[in-house]
Amino acid sequence: MTKKRLLSGIKSTGRTHIGNYFGAMKQWVDLVNDYDSFIMVADYHSLNFVQNAGEMRDLTWNMVIDYLAVGLDPKKVVIFKQSDVSAHTELCWIFDTLITMPFLMRAHAFKDAEAKDKEISVGTFNYPVLMAADILLYGPDVVPVGQDQKQHVEYARDIAEKFNHIFGETFKLPKEMIVENVAVVPGIDGRKMSKSYNNYIPLFAGDDEIEKLCMAIVTDSSGDVPTNVYAIHKLFRSEEELKAIYDEHKGKYKILKEKLIEDVKAFIKPLRDKRRLIAEDTDYIRQVIKEGGERAKEIANKKLVEVKEKIGVN
Ligand code: AMP
Repeated sequence: MTKKRLLSGIKSTGRTHIGNYFGAMKQWVDLVNDYDSFIMVADYHSLNFVQNAGEMRDLTWNMVIDYLAVGLDPKKVVIFKQSDVSAHTELCWIFDTLITMPFLMRAHAFKDAEAKDKEISVGTFNYPVLMAADILLYGPDVVPVGQDQKQHVEYARDIAEKFNHIFGETFKLPKEMIVENVAVVPGIDGRKMSKSYNNYIPLFAGDDEIEKLCMAIVTDSSGDVPTNVYAIHKLFRSEEELKAIYDEHKGKYKILKEKLIEDVKAFIKPLRDKRRLIAEDTDYIRQVIKEGGERAKEIANKKLVEVKEKIGVN
């Protein structure tokens, strides 16, 4: 029996944080034996934010190391760079000709950018279409993501349906996979943890950094339980264990933050140690990217040939 397929990825726009890990990466690792998995570094999406060659190379390279450090085994998972597979941008163009501006104007990311009165690049506006191409080329059954990406997977489904309707059955309709209690991991200010809000705890943070960030978690002094501390603590311990700790130290926010610090440190240290070792082996990392790119290209190009035939440009 053939395995079901999974595809996901992260933009290489900064340091990976615990929101990325619990919201998405952990699922990739947990599901590695159940799914035929494709995990990409979404570097062409990053180009909307990172417009410096050195920084781009560095961020992409580091993201691959992060993937390996959390436990993705390249023998079981295809790890690749989006920009290595030109079929993504080619299919994006084909989709661009099928969909309308009002359809894309409904995207949350676009609306948010517009509300902030930002100068919006065509790439940012078109983000959901490139993401649809990223997904649909591989025919995944599921796309494990955090809640913020739900709409983008819906876009991929809508675009696939439209293409299938016009040109005949070509794309499998993908489904988002969102784990409810980690759908939105909060940052140290209580808003969604995000690189752009600068409210994140890096997944490979050093001990000093962990202390500083956890101590800076925003608390109000109205209750026994500091809500934002608890919400982050929940990622590292069961609610049962937390109940004992939070009951014992009711209202003592400093002690509760120290307890959180202990748990975050204990969780991050082995990951950080593993990452340091992997980072030293540059030949291995280069090989992972090369082989992953080749494998991804095989699958994606095959789909693109089918698409080109359907639209009559072969
Ligand atoms: P990005 O950094 O926007 O490329 O996101 C990479 C993945 O991490 C996506 O699946 C996001 O949905 C997920 N993610 C990012 N931030 C959070 C968060 N605060 N809580 C849960 N998932 C998140």
